[in-house]
Amino acid sequence: MSILPAPPTPIHLLDLRAEHALIQKELDRAVCDTFDEAAFIQGPAVSQFAAELGSYLGGAHVIPCANGTDALTLALMSLQLPAGAEVILPAFTYVATLEAAALLGLRPVLVDVRSDTFNIDTAAVEAAITPRTGAIMAVHLFGQCADLEALRELTTRHSVALIEDNAQAIGATFRFRSGETTYAGTVGEVGTTSFFPSKNLGAMGDGGAMFTRDPARATLLRQLANHGQSQKYHHQHIGLNSRLDTLQAALLRVKLHHLPAATAARQTMAARYDATLAGMSDLLIPVRDARSSHVFHQYTITLAEANRRDELRHFLQRCGVPTMVYYPLPVHAQPAYAYLGYQAGQLPVAERLCGAVLSLPIHPLLTVAQQDYIIECLGTYFGR
Ligand SMILES: *Cc1c(COP(=O)(O)O)cnc(C)c1O
Repeated sequence: MSILPAPPTPIHLLDLRAEHALIQKELDRAVCDTFDEAAFIQGPAVSQFAAELGSYLGGAHVIPCANGTDALTLALMSLQLPAGAEVILPAFTYVATLEAAALLGLRPVLVDVRSDTFNIDTAAVEAAITPRTGAIMAVHLFGQCADLEALRELTTRHSVALIEDNAQAIGATFRFRSGETTYAGTVGEVGTTSFFPSKNLGAMGDGGAMFTRDPARATLLRQLANHGQSQKYHHQHIGLNSRLDTLQAALLRVKLHHLPAATAARQTMAARYDATLAGMSDLLIPVRDARSSHVFHQYTITLAEANRRDELRHFLQRCGVPTMVYYPLPVHAQPAYAYLGYQAGQLPVAERLCGAVLSLPIHPLLTVAQQDYIIECLGTYFGR
């Protein structure tokens, strides 16, 4: 048996315990204050957090809700589409995007993604538009914006709504040809995000939010997330019970404060991976779209030879380097969505990526020594 090297210190995909230890006093105070106030539902921290996140996002209205999947569901509900309307979305995403559309009795129409940016292929979107298309759901996968220039242009031209699933790209920006720069999630009719603990802005439990620039839609989304009411016991719409707990909002206020530094740390690490991995011909580093900043929720490499991915993953595991595959199956291959009738080979880029991508550790507390070790392990595997 060959002797494998060992990491300088244990490497994690995410080290929430250590991240939280650094801000323990602030978090403790937030918890204590919430307990003292005892306004556990719709307490003051919820609207305070919404206002603070809104100004971080350049002035968007922020409507908190219970999780990122509900945010997608509520975003679609706010469009008030007819039953059976088509919703175009990428085949390479987390299932929640598709699930929200399917649950509401809308018809998900899956399109392929680009092999370079992993984001929705806007030429394929355009080709999929029919008179029944009600919305396009774009996902800013792994932390980089989809082509918002093309998406904004084509949704305007075809009069269909744009929803941005921004669960992975909070704080990313996109520069339009006009010179205008906007935050991911604030371009479409509604942007959504998730505060699942492992997201770049994570709570200590579930949470989510919607963003919009339209004050009337903000009011509607706020009603929909709270039983369709503005006034207690007066229900204008069929809504959901989907609220962000006061406790989570109080903790998120603390974490939002530290988000810019955490994002900068991720970006520094990504640049280091880029510089050292770019020379390895057996893998592709994530392709940057010059118009978008990238907040590196994931640093995802693509293996040139797809069938070596799992072997590399096992090798790294034995070296003490955890990795993840986002996502091992395209959504149309999931049994729950067999009814949509997609066949293998129909969405070839998404299908190929599922067998070829590998996400490396990237989190704010990964050290330079750990990163050097990960890079050294990759070099060893590829024989240099
Ligand atoms: C995490 C995630 C969601 C779902 O968020 P939850 O808060 O877990 O419901 C939706 N879309 C994408 C792309 C995600 O990464």
